[in-house]
Amino acid sequence: MSLQARIQDVFNEPACDKNQAKDAKAKKKGCSKPLTPGAAAGGCAFDGAKIALQPITDVAHLIHGPLACEGNSWDNRGAGSSGSDLWRRSFTTDLTELDIVMGQGEKKLFRAVREIVERHAPPAVFVYSTCVTALIGDDIEAVCRRAGERFGLPVVPVNAPGFVGSKNLGNKLAGEALLDHVIGTVEPDDVGPTDVNILGEFNLAGEFWMVKPLLDRLGIRVRACIPGDARYRDVAAAHTARATMMVCSTALINLARKMEERWGIPFFEGSFYGVSDTSDALRSLARLLVARGADPSLIGRTEALIMQEEAIVWRRLAAFRPRLEGKRVLLNTGGVKSWSVVAALQEVGLEVVGTSTKKSTPEDKERIKQLLKDDKHAFDAMAPRDLYALLAAGKADIMLSGGRTQFIALKAKMPWLDINQERHHPYAGYDGMVELVRQIDIALANPVWETVRAPAPWDGDGRPPAMASGPTETGAIALTRRKFAGTTADDMGEC
Ligand code: SF4
Repeated sequence: MSLQARIQDVFNEPACDKNQAKDAKAKKKGCSKPLTPGAAAGGCAFDGAKIALQPITDVAHLIHGPLACEGNSWDNRGAGSSGSDLWRRSFTTDLTELDIVMGQGEKKLFRAVREIVERHAPPAVFVYSTCVTALIGDDIEAVCRRAGERFGLPVVPVNAPGFVGSKNLGNKLAGEALLDHVIGTVEPDDVGPTDVNILGEFNLAGEFWMVKPLLDRLGIRVRACIPGDARYRDVAAAHTARATMMVCSTALINLARKMEERWGIPFFEGSFYGVSDTSDALRSLARLLVARGADPSLIGRTEALIMQEEAIVWRRLAAFRPRLEGKRVLLNTGGVKSWSVVAALQEVGLEVVGTSTKKSTPEDKERIKQLLKDDKHAFDAMAPRDLYALLAAGKADIMLSGGRTQFIALKAKMPWLDINQERHHPYAGYDGMVELVRQIDIALANPVWETVRAPAPWDGDGRPPAMASGPTETGAIALTRRKFAGTTADDMGEC
């Protein structure tokens, strides 16, 4: 299938609610929106494809293009690996102007695959096209085919050059590459009735490791978690799973739907953020597996585990309630999982004063409306100046967002917590919920806010007191000491 036809196919996704609501003309136009000049933009399609596949940890990810494409996208997410670190190596053909003028692109690509195979012996090499190599017409599919035959391993072309569209389109083209070249190519000899796939889980900050022990206790085996902490052979055998849970609906929905069509694997959309969502996800997995032939006792065992875990997590969360009850949160995420984070925050008595729904489906928006009792707190996209005005006016106590908007909160001298892909703390599962609340508590209680909001110590005579009257304990040090006088680790939310 040509790239153009592939893009049209991906745009016309029947399982996507937004797409279903469009007329034929709008469907043909696709999902890419022209960018607003001057506005910060998301990544390109290449970036999206690489994000969706790079956490497959034992694969060598080779970027065919100029150095900067790889440099801009390398390691910008904190996905965790429990094994190989090959995925974090930076492989690129580093195409120069001279290579392009001399028509050396394809030869350089072939040599790069050979060098990777000789030095690292990976189970597979993924080759990503970029704008430059697509525009000069390098046939990466042909080179990958030839290199695969020559070196005896899968060399997978990922044809998503940056100019074809947005990061989200790149995610989907990555899913297509897996369908075309990877999934279904390995037949495992240990297929079981409780094997599942988890799609769209990136294992950011290692958070899937907070969920996997729950599945292990239920005897549910994760055949493939795509892409977080995945191994090539597991992804290649993903077609043998009995059920699929889709964690991030917009990223790999085409993959989930086509796996259902091709191999009859039913899927559902769920979330591991928040106590009730985690419980619902476990229930749905158990129900789907039983419907497909697993031992019916799985449902009872799942309920018992949920009861036990919820009792523990509520006890742990109760310690935070007196400190957090009534605190107001402004949520400015990509929008995809807003509803599930909203539900999670409400569970500990936090009040959500606003949430973005920019990338939410109509269904997500309806869920948010129900959770917030109305839709006046949901906004599609809020301009930075409006976010700033809201925070500066003290209408929220903390903002939860991605790294790009952190400086709005910091400029307004308000606490901020990173809940997007660059975060350093795991928030999934029951333990993850406790961690999220603990981090909110730490951010709110940080004495730095009192310090930065106080008038500068030298306001008055224009000189710092230390300079005027010698070295005394003033400012932040004194404030910190006062704040924590008599405070224990338990008071600080350790439990
Ligand atoms: S837009 Fe093109 S040139 Fe820029 S990073 Fe993406 S692939 Fe590379």
